[in-house]
Amino acid sequence: MSSGIISSLKNKFHPAKIKRRFLHYAMKGKAVQCPCCGSSYVTFLPAGLEKRANARCINCDSLERQRTLWLYLNDQQDLLMPGFKMLHIAPEKQFYKRFSVSNGIQYYPGDLFPLKYRHIPNMYKVDVTDVQFGDAFFDCVMCNHVLEHVPNDSKAMQEFYRILKPGGWAILNVPIDMNREKTFEDFTVTDPKKRLELFGQDDHVRLYGSDYVTRLQAAGFSVEVIDYVKKFSHNEQFRYGLKPVELIFLCRKK
Ligand SMILES: [Zn+2]
Repeated sequence: MSSGIISSLKNKFHPAKIKRRFLHYAMKGKAVQCPCCGSSYVTFLPAGLEKRANARCINCDSLERQRTLWLYLNDQQDLLMPGFKMLHIAPEKQFYKRFSVSNGIQYYPGDLFPLKYRHIPNMYKVDVTDVQFGDAFFDCVMCNHVLEHVPNDSKAMQEFYRILKPGGWAILNVPIDMNREKTFEDFTVTDPKKRLELFGQDDHVRLYGSDYVTRLQAAGFSVEVIDYVKKFSHNEQFRYGLKPVELIFLCRKK
């Protein structure tokens, strides 16, 4: 048997894939529906360190935040015009599938570690604090749940502002505690256990507070904080697997 066939069989019968196929059929139902892939189940799977209920789609792995953003973008069709150039940092696979085949969008997926994205053939290596693209090159930037990993986040915000055309937009969502007035960061903390305890994840370098908006504004952006989930009823929030609050930070370059 050739090595190609063996590798293909190994891939097909990988335990994680078998488990997914099993769950996909065992959990079929009508109680929840993933906006990203259309699959319906009796519930989404739990996810996260504290095992949030009704969180992960069995089929496409979307979480609450991706489904919220997906629904928001469906609702805001004029954000994405044919011909737009988009930089998508740390591309979520649901959005990669959507944008890479979207009508006329010139799509640039990028990450500091492009080899992590074996399913994406045309990944760019992009350091968000030193972006290789020229001024005003892009119409839009998507960079979600990345800045909390970046020590010099203000430089990254400045870079996003620089590479956007006037009138361009960026969605720069981060985990945030809006009850916290001031962002907490301490770069002397490098121990993963301590980071987990202080910042909520072992590779985060800060915990954002409501001054996140001020930090974005300091880079030049005008910022709209959108509480999109509140548009949905309690039943709809359950059906789409949304958290009660999942803020969207829409940043525009004047
Ligand atoms: Zn899905």
